[in-house]
Amino acid sequence: MDRRQFIKTGAAGAAGLTLSFHEAKARTKEVKTPLDVKGYVREPAKRIPVVDSADVVIIGGGPAGFAAAVAAARNGSDVLLLEREYFLGGLFTGCGVTPIINMYHRLPNGSGKQAIFGIAEELCRKLDAVGMLCLEGIRPKVDPEAAKYFMEEFCAESGVRILYGVRAAEVTRSGDAIESVILEGKSGRVAVRCKFVVDASGDGDVLEWTGEDFTVYKNEIGAMWRIGHADNYRKGSNPTPVKGVRTRWTAGERDQDGLDMYNLTRIQLSLRKKMWKEIAENRKKEGNEDLYLIDTPSVVGVRITRVLNSVANVTTEGAATGKVYQDVIGLAGGESNLKYNGGKIPTVERKMWQIPYSSITPKHVPNLLVGGRCFGFEKELTFDAREIGTCLLTGQAAGVAASIAVASRRSNREIDISKLQACLKAQNVRWDV
Ligand SMILES: Cc1cc2nc3c(=O)[nH]c(=O)nc-3n(C[C@H](O)[C@H](O)[C@H](O)COP(=O)(O)OP(=O)(O)OC[C@H]3O[C@@H](n4cnc5c(N)ncnc54)[C@H](O)[C@@H]3O)c2cc1C
Repeated sequence: MDRRQFIKTGAAGAAGLTLSFHEAKARTKEVKTPLDVKGYVREPAKRIPVVDSADVVIIGGGPAGFAAAVAAARNGSDVLLLEREYFLGGLFTGCGVTPIINMYHRLPNGSGKQAIFGIAEELCRKLDAVGMLCLEGIRPKVDPEAAKYFMEEFCAESGVRILYGVRAAEVTRSGDAIESVILEGKSGRVAVRCKFVVDASGDGDVLEWTGEDFTVYKNEIGAMWRIGHADNYRKGSNPTPVKGVRTRWTAGERDQDGLDMYNLTRIQLSLRKKMWKEIAENRKKEGNEDLYLIDTPSVVGVRITRVLNSVANVTTEGAATGKVYQDVIGLAGGESNLKYNGGKIPTVERKMWQIPYSSITPKHVPNLLVGGRCFGFEKELTFDAREIGTCLLTGQAAGVAASIAVASRRSNREIDISKLQACLKAQNVRWDV
């Protein structure tokens, strides 16, 4: 045992008594599921072919994964972005969820002050330049197809390699570190080697596989969907940048388990029926005869599932009081009435809130960071923390931090925070507004 290993495992480790975090978890490993288990089968061990490698592997191409990939590539890393669908944007483009919340902070006079910059702002500018962005109050609202197109263009320009149609299914380890990601796709079950991983799966899939510390939050599962020839349609719908097209919001069902695949299927089937019924009924009304359903969501509308119990989660108090962090990675607007101290802070009285690096950093796996709706925050912050603006921001920070870790051969907890902050500023991320 060398000095480093000795320090990691302690004297008991030298005597063979202490297992690494990963080894200890592996001993008791059983596949976990929220489902009713009817029995077990044993999966035979097999050799998995390694087909690729990258400095930074990003799992999931939603807002967070997209921003992480572009940020890491611009910072000099070789990046592979893995996405199970055949488009980028996750819920943002695949569930029609196109108003970018928290990018602007609501001021008492109702106007907005920009809180989120960086890649979020760049993407909005691109979309605006081609007429594919409009404002819904203080929220920039984009056309989902245009967003898919420009997100791919950003990836191509920065050198990100995208691999579509692959579901990351497991990781292999060397000690506590992730050594490779195992994928399932039409070419079979294959592996890609990596130096660093960003979990941007939305559901924190890597947290489950690695036995990291997390909590599962339940919330509403609903949908946003687009309707056409909808100028006269007002029921719970909002304009889009495309003439005659509006988005309709369906709340769905409350307090749902977004990790139960039977539940997800049931909800998606029921929501699609609801959407068709609503359109059919409304076409009978004067002025709406030509109304039609453009698309139902291709990604199921899960708001939240696994959330990292990070090195230091963002607390409600931190967000409510506008706490300043030494390891700040960005700022977000607050668009909800925040429950705090036995009362509620109305949106217009909220402060902008900082996000620290420690909230995207896991406690155990040294070459993993998270971005997007699975980063670490207290439950009361669920509305604000999971919005698209915040996901673009935490994704961008995770990408830059991952590339710094790889270049400096350091773990997530050892990287130079002042360098991270300087690189983020160089990518136009701001927290000085
Ligand atoms: C109904 C609804 C309405 C909403 N309304 C708004 C709104 O108006 N404004 C707002 O700002 N936010 C809204 N949100 C929230 C916002 O859309 C999401 O929180 C945000 O998109 C999360 O981004 P993400 O990148 O963390 O995850 P996601 O958008 O969930 O993206 C995760 C990506 O990872 C991929 N993936 C997952 N697992 C794997 C795997 N194992 N292997 C490979 N790929 C994988 C998925 O296919 C997906 O592309 C809403 C959400 C819902 C459900």
